[in-house]
Amino acid sequence: MDDYLERLKNGSLKLYALEKELPPAEAVTLRRRYIEDITGTPLPSIGSSTLPFDAAARKNCENMIGMVQVPVGVAGPLHIRGEYAAGEYYLPLATTEGALVASVNRGCSAISRAGGAETRIFQDAMTRAPVFATDSVVHAKVVADWIAANNEAIREAAESTTSHGRLTGVMTSVAGTSLYVRLAFDSKDAMGMNMVTIASERVSALIMERTGARLVALSSNLCTDKKPAAVNVVLGRGRTVAAGVFLPDALIHDVLKTSATALAEVNQRKNLVGSARAGSLGFNAHAANVIAAVFIACGQDPAHVVEGSSCITTVDLADGGVYVAVTLPALPAGTVGGGTGLPTQSECLRLLGVSGGGDPPGSHARAFAEIVAAGVLAGELSLVSALAAGHLARAHKELGRGQR
Ligand code: NAP
Repeated sequence: MDDYLERLKNGSLKLYALEKELPPAEAVTLRRRYIEDITGTPLPSIGSSTLPFDAAARKNCENMIGMVQVPVGVAGPLHIRGEYAAGEYYLPLATTEGALVASVNRGCSAISRAGGAETRIFQDAMTRAPVFATDSVVHAKVVADWIAANNEAIREAAESTTSHGRLTGVMTSVAGTSLYVRLAFDSKDAMGMNMVTIASERVSALIMERTGARLVALSSNLCTDKKPAAVNVVLGRGRTVAAGVFLPDALIHDVLKTSATALAEVNQRKNLVGSARAGSLGFNAHAANVIAAVFIACGQDPAHVVEGSSCITTVDLADGGVYVAVTLPALPAGTVGGGTGLPTQSECLRLLGVSGGGDPPGSHARAFAEIVAAGVLAGELSLVSALAAGHLARAHKELGRGQR
């Protein structure tokens, strides 16, 4: 141990290279010891975890020193009547925001008492968009025409790299001599970013070979990964999913302590007009709160909360109540790959009955997306009704005050 620490200190051994000489768990411990020594900061909590360090250090995190642990609570039961998710669910929410789980729980209760949330998937389309340089606008048009005429060859190239992914869309955009090809895939149970990036590289090689266009970058920002972008809202990215529920007047009054017209007015003036006035891409109250907490619990890539937060919440006045719905145009979500296999994250997915690959492939990720959408609906219902009833500040004072 001391020998390694000495070599790290004198620079003859790089911090990131410890795994080349030691098993992952020992490398993690040693690296933490070194960081503790040189910064004078004891890290006993980061260093103690029930999770084995080996798998995470190999697949999920470089220069690993331990684990940060996040409290996880459950909201539910949440009754869902989806195409892929059906039954009662307890939603794992990993968060440090007091009041969040209680709020979602209240929404779950209202939804379940109303007979459950109906959920539907509208599209599976994980995207990657390489950018090519062409010689002129004339050359750009030749390349665009070649792509339009050769979708089948492009599909064959893409699908030669994956046994699960299916190419579902090819969209070309041009700006001067730059040409962008937005490739969309049904990534089945994978969130799919690695899968579609590998497939896009093969497609890019084909386009270069056949057209003389030069690949500048495999990712062009027209994908658009992890940045707020209208293209994702309009065309979708990952799973496009919606959840809705009809709430009768009596239930709105008894459980949510407000009225149908007050819900509709708060939604219209806050979520719709307020968001429009703000120039927001998200027309919702706090979809990101639920998505972030479920994503952290279930081993998703948390940066994809950016796409997920472009949710639109609608409240339609109807005879005897309201129909409340959330539509998430761009929810990247998967039940295999990434962080989904880590023990605690995999337990959370098992709690929802969607861990690993589904039968048929894609059914687990679709069920998971439906569950997330129903959870977002619960969160929206609870917050919009708290605002309508004037209860928001009181709930935060009672439940989350200590940390503010
Ligand atoms: P992955 O960890 O690369 O695993 C996905 C692979 O699992 C698929 O390619 C597929 O192999 C296999 N698989 C097995 N059973 C499957 C099933 N039932 N359905 C679908 N695939 C199945 O995961 P990923 O979802 O492609 O990528 C997620 C990771 O990408 C996350 O860690 C995320 O943080 C990271 N990420 C990467 C980029 C990037 O640019 N590369 C960008 C953002 C995030 P086959 O393809 O051979 O069938």
